[in-house]
Amino acid sequence: MIVIGLTGGIASGKSTVAEELRRLGLPVFDADEVSRKAVEKGSAGLRQVAEAFGSQYLTADGSLDRAKVANLIFHDRQARKTLESIIHKIVWQQAEQFLQQCSERNFPAAVLDVPLLIECGWQNNVDRVWLVAVDVQEQIKRAMKRSGMAEDDVKQRIAAQMSLEAKKPYAHMIFDNSGELQQTLEQVQQEVDKILGEKFGR
Ligand code: ATP
Repeated sequence: MIVIGLTGGIASGKSTVAEELRRLGLPVFDADEVSRKAVEKGSAGLRQVAEAFGSQYLTADGSLDRAKVANLIFHDRQARKTLESIIHKIVWQQAEQFLQQCSERNFPAAVLDVPLLIECGWQNNVDRVWLVAVDVQEQIKRAMKRSGMAEDDVKQRIAAQMSLEAKKPYAHMIFDNSGELQQTLEQVQQEVDKILGEKFGR
């Protein structure tokens, strides 16, 4: 089974490409969704966070006090690293389970949609890195339109991330999503055809 790591920057079009890959029949793992659930109430991840930082980072009902934790990791780099390592470990464990299930079900390929794939060094855990790229002006426009964020906030978030240029050398395939969606979807279809061709000699 060919393992594809799908990545890209904020509002570059990862979810849009992931949706198309699902439509074309490939299983897709959503790392964002799993990381959101990793520290939900009652989870093993939340217990680890409470052990690392103390129960004062939980609310009265036993959920993560997200505002308090956000404040902590903003001021304390070590705490940020600890939190990230707890969450990343859980996400990777679940990704491995997902890949195991896909392999047992004989899928020719499976996709890990991981926004921070390269930042986490997980490019080494996949066979192919597929990068969704977008021109930065278009990226800002789409991020603002989608979330109603102010332009400066979007620019700040983009600047805080690893740049697209720095990610490009890791990519086996770059989907240029700066133009019409249909053009991107055609690129995606072609790559999926290639992968299936490799597996089935078509
Ligand atoms: P994030 O990781 O920040 O959540 P993402 O990389 O998953 O974002 P999407 O959610 O797929 O990106 O796309 C961001 C926005 O841009 C969405 O509103 C989507 O509908 C829109 N979009 C994606 N591709 C195109 C395109 N080619 N033309 C116009 N709009 C697009």
